[in-house]
Amino acid sequence: MDEIKGSASSADIQAIPDSLTQDQIKAAQSAVDAAEAKVASVEMGQGEAPVNYFEDTNTKNSDDKPVNFYSLTLEDLKEYIKKKGKEQFRAQQIYKWVYEQRVTDPEQMSNLSKQFRADMPKILSFELPKVIKHLKSVDGTQKFLFDMGEGQSLEAVLIPSEDRRTLCISSEVGCNIACKFCYTGKQKLKRRLRTEEIVGQFMQVHDLLGENERISNIVFMGMGEPLDNPEAVFKTIEVLHSPWGINLSRKKITVSTSGIVPEMWRIGKAKVRLAVSLNAPTNDIRSMVMPINKKWNVYELLDACRDYYEATGESITFEYVLLKGVTDQLEHARQLFKLVRGIPCKINLIPFNEHPGSGFERPDDEAVQAFHTELGRLGAHVLLRRSMGRDIFAACGQLTSQAPNRPETMDISNSKLAGLPKHLREAQASATMQNS
Ligand code: SAH
Ligand code: SF4
Repeated sequence: MDEIKGSASSADIQAIPDSLTQDQIKAAQSAVDAAEAKVASVEMGQGEAPVNYFEDTNTKNSDDKPVNFYSLTLEDLKEYIKKKGKEQFRAQQIYKWVYEQRVTDPEQMSNLSKQFRADMPKILSFELPKVIKHLKSVDGTQKFLFDMGEGQSLEAVLIPSEDRRTLCISSEVGCNIACKFCYTGKQKLKRRLRTEEIVGQFMQVHDLLGENERISNIVFMGMGEPLDNPEAVFKTIEVLHSPWGINLSRKKITVSTSGIVPEMWRIGKAKVRLAVSLNAPTNDIRSMVMPINKKWNVYELLDACRDYYEATGESITFEYVLLKGVTDQLEHARQLFKLVRGIPCKINLIPFNEHPGSGFERPDDEAVQAFHTELGRLGAHVLLRRSMGRDIFAACGQLTSQAPNRPETMDISNSKLAGLPKHLREAQASATMQNS
């Protein structure tokens, strides 16, 4: 059962002070200051949460240019081809060809009229972002680097476990939320991704994997803040959920947010799972490491989590990065327990993953274990997340769009690029060769 019921005795809970002492808060602040001093030469983000969303221009297209198929939900496609004078039921047929059969050559779509097949290249394009690197970790994690044009790149990570294959996808190139411990947050937002670029990450990885290696879950925990790009993110969810397409269950999709509170209702409305990057045991400490907390504080954030639970009945995942001296003390575990008590949830502990120029330190294993044990003792449902893919820089907070000389090793020897359907292989071959 996920709910934190407080199985600790009432004496245990009463023994937890209402807040940290001034000394404890000062200790966290000086650990943050020390980390910042170490990275003074590295440019940090601005610390302002962006609130002006770019308009989603995906379905707006000049009449003479084909629209990217992967930007369209089934409803969008129906509307669009109706405007082009075609029967709407053709939309389902095209969806099935593309998502079920992976056929994008109109000539092979045998149940469409000859005329429609001839017209299709003028109406729809099937371009996907190109995979330019495919890395495999010793632990089975795989990282895919995509060329997003204009010198920009992004990363998606496939994390295997016993019963699932989870694809961690990106919603933006860079991120303006500027959490102090996050590598992506150090690169300011370059741009928000379009729907076809997010769907494209899924489809490219899907095509690179074998029949028996299907992606079972997706998490928006790659680069960027999904709620800073809500139009494209929620359209992607509709595309991947469509029974005529990939048919991915809503329960297998998780949106992780740093806490753009006014947009969180969308996660409940889409009926997908909510993960929240909580990362601190108190409001004060959260403001030290996540500037967004100054805009929407932790109490507003937790209220939005309660609203989500009311709306969906689904429990919430809180992600909690353990930073040495800042968020990893036993007293922090107790405060954290108090903070989220009463919200049906599980807590995912993520020991800080180091990255170039980071001033923070990863706590030692004993401190991590003690934190985990204390939360468990109090009655929290707590998981210690194994840091998958650290050797290829694919672990949480290590993703970047600019990575000159990063100490990652590349192994594409067992990449399935060679086994791709011809049209996909040709589209990717040149880019991949340059990097292999
Ligand atoms: N922007 C979204 C999703 C991407 S970040 C969000 O913040 O929720 C995915 C997760 O990685 C977040 O929970 C974040 O707290 C965590 N993370 C970021 N940097 C990290 C680091 N260096 N070590 C460990 N986890 C990190
Ligand atoms: Fe952006 Fe998430 Fe990194 Fe914060 S943790 S900077 S919100 S990607």
